[in-house]
Amino acid sequence: MTYEPPAIYRTITPLRRELDELRASGKRVGVVLTMGALHAGHASLIDAAKVECDVVVLTIFVNPTQFGANEDLGAYPRTLDADCELAAAHGATMVFVPEVAEMYPNGTRAQLATVRVADLTSHLCGASRPGHFDGVATVVTKFFGILGPSSAYFGKKDAQQLAVIRKLVADLNIDVEVVGCPIIRESDGLAMSSRNRYLNVEERSAAAEIAAALMRAADEIEAGESAARTIIERVQASLEAIAPGAIDYVEVVDQSQFQPLTEIDRNAVLAVAVKVGKARLIDNLHIDLIDGALLVDRGQRLKAEAP
Ligand code: AMP
Repeated sequence: MTYEPPAIYRTITPLRRELDELRASGKRVGVVLTMGALHAGHASLIDAAKVECDVVVLTIFVNPTQFGANEDLGAYPRTLDADCELAAAHGATMVFVPEVAEMYPNGTRAQLATVRVADLTSHLCGASRPGHFDGVATVVTKFFGILGPSSAYFGKKDAQQLAVIRKLVADLNIDVEVVGCPIIRESDGLAMSSRNRYLNVEERSAAAEIAAALMRAADEIEAGESAARTIIERVQASLEAIAPGAIDYVEVVDQSQFQPLTEIDRNAVLAVAVKVGKARLIDNLHIDLIDGALLVDRGQRLKAEAP
């Protein structure tokens, strides 16, 4: 299927005017919020939005407020031309690429109203990356205010982020449906990420072990292992072998509040973060309790390319 190329917007006012008109004519607006360096994971979100919405707005914005002082803001890959091609190939209707000054005209610190989701952000990436989720929650709220979507599509890859967004939408009465989409994986299982570009050849092959360890855990959980400690220790041992001393966390938490569980007896997430070379990689399994049985979402693998 070929689509019209998307309209590119760099400023808020004309985009907002256009979206107001589309909404007034009864169109359903869906949004996919990204930091660019797009890959098949992002494309899957556009595809999901296309199924349910008349208008799909893709945003590309490397949001400075969600990066810590020693993180990779400056090095984060920026590939706008290729991103626009991917957006066009998947039928995004509009691409919004604001400058930092358009999103934060008063600067990123002074007088900035901040959205903070408490509790949920106290563990995992929230503990390792202080202030990260305040930056995410604030910019997502700003995009919802600018774009006025009916629905917004996020990857389960960023499990804690998805939970934070569900919570802020509920607590702040924002009228948007939050849709969580499966993790898209390379053919060897590695969760796709813009940060995979940081990996050299050896690191890239070692990184595949992250998903392999999670898939073994998925099999064990579905076979009846529900002790979080047992699962965590096995995954830790696998990750230690590829990245000695570089595990940030391996945890089992509940899916809504992200608090640690000892027993997997409700909807849960097995989440990992590990540093491989320069890249901090995250991955997870969403585990759902359905009719008394634990079912694990292993994500979707891309087919191996023909040699
Ligand atoms: P990012 O550009 O990394 O901020 O991600 C933008 C959106 O794409 C977020 O909702 C991510 O969860 C989602 N995403 C990133 N990688 C994947 C993936 N491998 N599979 C599915 N969704 C993804």
